[in-house]
Amino acid sequence: MRLRTIPGSSGRPRPLRLLGDPALSGPGREVTAFDGELAALIEDMYATMYAAHGVGLAAHQIGVPLRVFVYDCPDDEDRRHLGHLVNPRLVETDGPVVRGPEGCLSLPGIEAGTPRYDRAVVTGFSASGEPRTVTGTGFFARCLQHECDHLDGLLYVDHLTGLRRRRVLRAAARAPWAAEPETSGR
Ligand SMILES: [Zn+2]
Repeated sequence: MRLRTIPGSSGRPRPLRLLGDPALSGPGREVTAFDGELAALIEDMYATMYAAHGVGLAAHQIGVPLRVFVYDCPDDEDRRHLGHLVNPRLVETDGPVVRGPEGCLSLPGIEAGTPRYDRAVVTGFSASGEPRTVTGTGFFARCLQHECDHLDGLLYVDHLTGLRRRRVLRAAARAPWAAEPETSGR
């Protein structure tokens, strides 16, 4: 067996930005330098995701306004998908739109049925600048759409309407991690 580096093993977890934090809104910038700094950021993102027991994490969520996300996420057949994408673009979505439970490390402890396409294709680059195409179905397709949204400043809450949306925002306002009243309730 060949010894492989475990993603995140050289990174350190960074504090998570939570609902109401301005770092979560607005579009991220394209990465232009595929250098050691980017590799270190991605390592920290893996470490942060694992420390928080998440299945995906976007750079916005640690306050870095760059278009990068990492994932370690199962699909509905329990296949594991592990990797990262730099400058990702959601190029294809199809299949039925399925409403399924979705959560976010920026709204810890809260979940809501959120509509997503059952299949998604995302293109982008590796940390070293090699082109990549990632195709996901089921829960992993949901994850890919969720992470792409973060890079445009969107949260799953933005896909909810009516009672579902009100319920999530009410739970977030009452959560132990809730921001001060003047910055909460976005
Ligand atoms: Zn999220």
